[in-house]
Amino acid sequence: QTVAKKTLFVKALFDYDATLDSGLPSKGLSFKYGDIIHVTNATDPEWWQAQIVVNSSDGSGIIPSKHRVMRKERKRINQVKFNSTPKSLEFFSIYEECQSQKEAQETTKSLNSTDQQDEWILSYEPVTQQKIDYVRPIVILGPMKDRILEDLIQDQPQKFGVCIPHTTRAPRANEVHGALGSYYFIAMEEMKRQKDLGLFFEVGIHNENLYGTSINSVKAVSSKGLHCVLDVRGDAIPELQKKSIYPIAIYIKPKLSELNKRLTHDACIKIIQQGERVSAEFADCFTASVTGDTIEEIEESVLHVIKLHGGSEPWLPSGEMI
Ligand code: 5GP
Repeated sequence: QTVAKKTLFVKALFDYDATLDSGLPSKGLSFKYGDIIHVTNATDPEWWQAQIVVNSSDGSGIIPSKHRVMRKERKRINQVKFNSTPKSLEFFSIYEECQSQKEAQETTKSLNSTDQQDEWILSYEPVTQQKIDYVRPIVILGPMKDRILEDLIQDQPQKFGVCIPHTTRAPRANEVHGALGSYYFIAMEEMKRQKDLGLFFEVGIHNENLYGTSINSVKAVSSKGLHCVLDVRGDAIPELQKKSIYPIAIYIKPKLSELNKRLTHDACIKIIQQGERVSAEFADCFTASVTGDTIEEIEESVLHVIKLHGGSEPWLPSGEMI
C-alpha cells in the first residue's frame, strides 16, 4: 500500500484515447506513446490521477492503472489468440486492412504463458529526471528514416553531426583515416579485440570486412555540443543504453495515405511489416513515435521530440518496478 501511495513518474508505452474508454469514472486524460506522465495519486487499483509533464499538450485527469492495462490486455490477447495480434504489436500497426497479413500470428502462438504475454504488454515505464553530461545521440527507425537523417544533418549542421565509424577494409584512394565521411581504418585483429572489449555498440559485416561504430566516436560528436545522428539498426538502442548513453530514439509511423501515393499495395504491406517487426522488438526503447501526412510534417514532429527530450536533464528509465 505504501508503494501505491507515493507519486510516480512514468513514460507511456502505448497510446490512450480517453474519449474511447467508456469505463472512465471521471474526466480521462488522453496520452501518446512516449509522454512523460506524473501519476499524482496511485492509490486506486484501477484508475490513477495523472498529469502530463512532457508532451505536445498539457492536461490532467484519470488514466488506467498499470494493473488495469495489464488485465485488459491479457483478456484481449486471450480472446484473439491465434487469429490476431497482441496489443504490443498492434500499437504500431497503422492499417487495419493489413492486420491479417502480419506475421504476428506466430508471435501470438508463442505467447503461451501469462509471463510471456506480460513481457509483450506495453503499459508504463517508471522514469526519473536525470542529469546527463552528453548530448543525446539520435536514432530514427521506420520508413523514410534515411531521408530524415540526411535532412537533419544538412539543414542544421550547428545542431546535428555524424560520427566516424571503424572498418577493417583497406582505404580507397581519396579516403583519409579518421576524416569526416571516411573511416578509422583498422586491422581485423585489432577490431575484434576492441569489439570484445565492448568498445563498439554495433558491428556489421560487409564483403567479409567488419564495420562498426564505437561509443567513443559518438562521444566525440557529443563533446562538440552536437546530437550524433546514427544510422543504425534497432538493436543498437539497448546496446547504447547498456553503456549509459540514452539516445533519443524515434519511430516513424507511416500513414497509409502517404505510402499509397507512392507504392503498390504489396510494397506498402512489406514496409509496414518490416516496421512492425522493428518497433515491436524494441517497443519499450523509443522516446517517441511520430507520424504525419507529409515528410515536412514528420520532420517537424521529429524536431519537436528532439527539442523536448534533448536537454541535459531528460526523463530516463529509473529501473524501479511498479
Ligand atoms: P563502404 O565500404 O563502401 O564504405 O561501405 C559499404 C557498406 O558497409 C555500407 O553500405 C554499409 O552497409 C556498411 N557500413 C558502413 N559503415 C558502417 C557502420 O558504421 N556500421 C555498420 N554496421 N555497417 C557499416
